[in-house]
Amino acid sequence: MARRKKIYEGKAKILYEGPEPGTIVQYFKDDATAFNAEKKDVIDGKGVLNNRLSEFFMNGLTQIGVPTHFIRRLNMREQLVRSCEIVPLEVIVRNYAAGSMSKRLGIAEGTQLPRPIVEYCYKDDALGDPLVTEEHIAAFGWASQQDMDDILSLALRVNDFMSGVMLAVGIRLVDFKIEIGRVYDGDYQRLIIADEISPDSCRLWDIETGQKLDKDVFRRDLGNLTDAYSEVARRLGVLPKSNVSKPTLIN
Ligand code: 5GP
Repeated sequence: MARRKKIYEGKAKILYEGPEPGTIVQYFKDDATAFNAEKKDVIDGKGVLNNRLSEFFMNGLTQIGVPTHFIRRLNMREQLVRSCEIVPLEVIVRNYAAGSMSKRLGIAEGTQLPRPIVEYCYKDDALGDPLVTEEHIAAFGWASQQDMDDILSLALRVNDFMSGVMLAVGIRLVDFKIEIGRVYDGDYQRLIIADEISPDSCRLWDIETGQKLDKDVFRRDLGNLTDAYSEVARRLGVLPKSNVSKPTLIN
């Protein structure tokens, strides 16, 4: 059997050339990294859970008319996605202060923000993904003004959708990061949600207890990461009921 072509290997995923032109296979690894890869580990089953959870969120977004790169899940660790040109920005939406915003502005973690706040970081690992303004984005040509209007609208729609889905299962969506892809249809370009949406890229707190159910469990050594992600998947009905207590994770 021919070996497939690896296009890119990141910290948590590998991208392979897809079976048809314009497609990519996105493979979810078990690797966890934090603080710009200064902290690293392999967490059994993380990739399987993120593959399922990202499928769940992307499918939900498609159903409410938010375009995404997701085509279909292929197996436990892989999904077929539409190939796109990634806008070099991390788009962060915050509903409650936490993480870098709390540190930067001295606002206690968990403080509700007056409205959702959208931030942009320039995607560059060597620089530690620095926060940038729309002035930088326009001046350096990373995205046009029309792109920025579309990105803001997409980010807020994702926030409304994700907040509602999470609230329904007793989880607070504190903040999240998304990435945006550019696809071309003839002379026109469209922006779509790319990469992944999973507990690796969101802050998710239990509404009753405040328990963290996201990657901060790994970043801050708060317990077992797979247990936290399994709990999110269980509440959303993403894991089969028989696997509720200890999910059987097959590669
Ligand atoms: P903060 O800026 O507070 O570190 O992160 C804000 C939100 O964006 C958190 O939900 C965090 O998980 C997510 N985020 C920020 N940068 C990254 C990144 O490089 N990778 C991932 N997976 N998530 C990120």
